[in-house]
Amino acid sequence: MTMNLKDLWTGIINELSNETERIKLITWFKNTVILSVENGIITVGLPLPFFLNWHSVHFAKMTLEAAKKLDPTIRQIAYEVDLTLGDSDPRAIDLAKHFPEKNLARKVPKKNEVKFVGGVVSKILNPQYTLENFVIAPENRLAHAACLNVAKYPGQNYNPLFIYGGVGLGKTHLLQATGNEILRNDPGRVIVYITTETFVNEVVDSIQKRNMDRLRNKYRKVDTLIVDDIQFIANKDRTQEEFFHTFNTLYDGGKQIIISSDRPPHELTLLNERLVSRFESGMIVDVKMPDYETRLAILQERCREAQVFISPAVLEFIAFNITRSVRALQGVLKQVIARYEWEHIAPTVKMVSEIIKHSQKEVKMVGFVEDDPTPRGVITLEQLIDCVSEYYTIPKTEVVSDSRVRECTVPRQIIMYLAKTKLNMSLARIGENLGKRNHTTVMHAISRVAEKLKEDHQLMRDINAIKREAGMH
Ligand code: ADP
Ligand code: MG
Repeated sequence: MTMNLKDLWTGIINELSNETERIKLITWFKNTVILSVENGIITVGLPLPFFLNWHSVHFAKMTLEAAKKLDPTIRQIAYEVDLTLGDSDPRAIDLAKHFPEKNLARKVPKKNEVKFVGGVVSKILNPQYTLENFVIAPENRLAHAACLNVAKYPGQNYNPLFIYGGVGLGKTHLLQATGNEILRNDPGRVIVYITTETFVNEVVDSIQKRNMDRLRNKYRKVDTLIVDDIQFIANKDRTQEEFFHTFNTLYDGGKQIIISSDRPPHELTLLNERLVSRFESGMIVDVKMPDYETRLAILQERCREAQVFISPAVLEFIAFNITRSVRALQGVLKQVIARYEWEHIAPTVKMVSEIIKHSQKEVKMVGFVEDDPTPRGVITLEQLIDCVSEYYTIPKTEVVSDSRVRECTVPRQIIMYLAKTKLNMSLARIGENLGKRNHTTVMHAISRVAEKLKEDHQLMRDINAIKREAGMH
């Protein structure tokens, strides 16, 4: 074969770029390389374990087709996770540079951008927010149902729709999702989503430039007006005045209006009475912090989207302890995922509790004992055994017995390895405590672990995680 592996990979990725969005390519092909082409098999190296599933499901077929085109001897594709792959690897392609943003702009149409007749472009709706990926809980069911109805029958049943609730509880999500859904049902609609701040700025600007008519005309052409965080209009008389007119014009024309606020209309004390009574004439719904089960479901959904596996115990711990807002909940998860991706350490409850401690000051954590009586770094064999059996969710009695159940073999070997290398225990004592094994068996197990560690990255991650969990350094 004449082509070198990097050129071949570049060629394949070029082919894929015809049918794959730039951002997806960059995300999933970053730091990937061709490890070899041998006997008709192209072996692709992936930098992280969770890429594997994604590549097999979404890219394997396409990649193989593209490879065949460039090198007809190729018949099969294989993947291998190699944690050492990174930016500095000479075989990896700098995709962001290889695919500059503008070249592919054609292939990634900006979604949901609305052009007014006068050439004014509205605020773009974020296509990530949908009514489907909003997790329903008793605390937000009504709000979600109202949005569904509005999306189906804009301007007909619930007008205006007024959604209120605390920070980070899903108001913006619902507003944007409803706009997206209306557009999906009827792409010709003019939907405008604005934050109240933007609206205030536009009014101030129009006053200065003395072209208020232009602003009025702009909003008159709208089919659905979505205004986020209306509480910020309090005290701004002139903006309220303008908004009142816009509201009336649209409302009288049967156009849908959707509003969000941090509190119900009657508590918006610095708001003009007329506006309050307008808001109260429609449908008012609230969103509250979802219950534990929903919080857990939201975390699971986000992990699924991000294609990462995080242990149930860790997700439960986050869901249990973060009760203030969904945004905070997701914030903690994002940090956990980032650490996982950067450091390749499987997240543990202990690690998460540290993240929470740093980022969520007032949270009091439950489910994790912080005051460990043993000083850091010194633990007993008993504690080590507890940690390992918990980590692998296998019964402790099995691990310390002489049972030969396969599930216990690796955990037991790890205990032996750590007991020797970290707790400095004698081979005889280790063996005595773990199923009365003799010291040669123990030595054999320990050297097996040491040997495997040289190439088994999963094992390395597991041991690192256990060390962390056990407080060993
Ligand atoms: P608000 O506008 O009320 O301050 P956001 O709509 O910005 O809150 O929500 C904060 C984050 O939480 C967003 O990423 C949003 O997608 C997410 N979120 C909130 N509630 C839910 C829910 N029920 N299901 C899924 N995601 C949610
Ligand atoms: Mg918001």
